[in-house]
Amino acid sequence: MSSEHSLDAEGKLERIRRLGRSPWVFHVNTGGCNGCDIEIIDTLTPYFDAERFGIKRVSSPKHADILLVTGPVTRQSAATLRNAVDATPDPKLVVAIGSCACGGGIFHDSFTVIGGVDKTVPVDVYVPGCPPKPEALIHGLLLGLGKVEQKVSMRKGSDEAEHTL
Ligand code: SF4
Repeated sequence: MSSEHSLDAEGKLERIRRLGRSPWVFHVNTGGCNGCDIEIIDTLTPYFDAERFGIKRVSSPKHADILLVTGPVTRQSAATLRNAVDATPDPKLVVAIGSCACGGGIFHDSFTVIGGVDKTVPVDVYVPGCPPKPEALIHGLLLGLGKVEQKVSMRKGSDEAEHTL
């Protein structure tokens, strides 16, 4: 396991901020149905155009800052995932994309599946959905890079206030 994962979340974020250049992503499918992969392609190609944020796909984890992982982790793919994480230079982010990567999804009880990505390697950002929309993928990436804050609304409180009016 790389030393990067011993850093706390704030320390890792600070190091990513100090990159001073565009973050590059590498995509790993550990056993999904390809639905999430199609959404990643849509996110990185001109229609949703994640490159406007400097996010660019590369063909080797050795060149990447962020790993995008889709699918549940199968017993056969676990070693490949560990190798990809170890090959990615520090600082790095691991983003679990889709319900399968977040927790096993519809494959969670298969005998071939270990579980979500965090059962094999530490995960920094979870983007749920089956599959998640490109907007959710971009939001998750920007959250991981510290470029947007997560907003949690006090919906329950507002609803209660409306009902008392
Ligand atoms: S989350 Fe849904 S779309 Fe993505 S790999 Fe799993 S089953 Fe396929």
